[in-house]
Amino acid sequence: MSQSLTDQEREKRLRKKAVVDQRIAQATEERGVLILLKGNGKGKSSSAFGTLARALGHEQRCAVIQFIKGRKETGEFLFFKDHPLLDFHVMGHGFTWETQDKSLEQQAADQAWQVAEQLLGDDRYQLLIFDEMSYMFKYGYLDATVVAERIGNRPRHQSVIVTGRTMHRELLDIADTISIIQDERHAFRAGVKAQPGIEW
Ligand code: ATP
Ligand code: MG
Repeated sequence: MSQSLTDQEREKRLRKKAVVDQRIAQATEERGVLILLKGNGKGKSSSAFGTLARALGHEQRCAVIQFIKGRKETGEFLFFKDHPLLDFHVMGHGFTWETQDKSLEQQAADQAWQVAEQLLGDDRYQLLIFDEMSYMFKYGYLDATVVAERIGNRPRHQSVIVTGRTMHRELLDIADTISIIQDERHAFRAGVKAQPGIEW
């Protein structure tokens, strides 16, 4: 059943379109962006990997560093790891939820940051994902001031996505886009077991 718009509705849409067109006309800057995905809800890493698929679809060179290594190999790792335009780094033997050895964790964080710094200086990479990086600041393994300074000086056309439940002030100050993923409800709390394809 098709229904045509009333004059009033049509006018409202035209006004809205004019506003959007004006905003589009004003957004003329071409450069990479820093995107922060924070908050306690589910959807941060999966959003970052969705953007990764998008960038790879456009044949852009990308890299991922996962700062926390879970117990299981993730679906995103298995799916993306062999892509010719992607470097996929999972932070070494160090930081997992199970280990208690701070010096091993520090060593792993240092190694991951070394890779990150290199990528932040390489303009062939158009998108970098630093997944769960915020935990490194929380536990004092990385210095947020140093990281923010380095991210701020990255190549102009490079974009960076950082995920993690909390974000450090230094990164918030320089971010272009910040999304807070809110936790309204999660199946886990109703007793639904974590499952491959949804959780990892
Ligand atoms: P995802 O990878 O699913 O996008 P995320 O990156 O937003 O999740 P993290 O804090 O990294 O969330 O947690 C990773 C894991 O914890 C995922 O398996 C996710 O499903 C689960 N999870 C995320 N948020 C919650 C929550 N509020 N309660 C319980 N489990 C959660
Ligand atoms: Mg995550």
